[in-house]
Amino acid sequence: MAAGPRVLVRPAVGVLALQGDVVEHLRALRESGAEPAAVRRPDELDRVDGLVIPGGESTTMWKLIDVFGLAEQLRKRISGGMPVFGSCAGLIMLADRLPDPASGQQTLGGIDMAVRRNAFGRQVDSFERDLEVAGLDGPPYRAVFIRAPWVEGVGPSVEVLATDPGTSRIVAVRQGRALATSFHPELTPDRRIHQLFVDMVRDQA
Ligand code: GLN
Repeated sequence: MAAGPRVLVRPAVGVLALQGDVVEHLRALRESGAEPAAVRRPDELDRVDGLVIPGGESTTMWKLIDVFGLAEQLRKRISGGMPVFGSCAGLIMLADRLPDPASGQQTLGGIDMAVRRNAFGRQVDSFERDLEVAGLDGPPYRAVFIRAPWVEGVGPSVEVLATDPGTSRIVAVRQGRALATSFHPELTPDRRIHQLFVDMVRDQA
């Protein structure tokens, strides 16, 4: 049978809603063609085709994941191939390795990378940068960084999507169905990163 026109279904994409910029991601996902849903409980996680882990504070987020009893199921779904996108603190949560964790801090893992928290230093708590991001058409991507982590090292199956031209540090990566950025696409009107992620979910769903 000949391939018909592409059906643009709205995949169900969750945002882990324990802490951080949840509302901004829900809006960005809706504007990018997904049906967004806040995820706080295991049954809510069961119902989504993909998940965003927002920016916020990774130490607090880990404590809440632990308190809400979500760690095991999150790890199972991520390792089982559910598409996942982490921004900033979310990138930290997806790191297989943290060289400088806070006391008791764990991550969910999923991307073969080492991530340093608060890496850009206090004097540049927050800044913007034009980035070339692999896979995005059009002009450079204007990225907002807030107490951002950077990626210090990646394994062979990780694709580097962007480096910061100021420091040459890795700030966007993809490994299979896991995508992560040091910056906050949810805080700017450019929807290309969320569209890329919604496409990844649609391809998988
Ligand atoms: N520095 C934060 C952390 O360690 C991340 C900052 C952010 O998400 N804006 O979790």
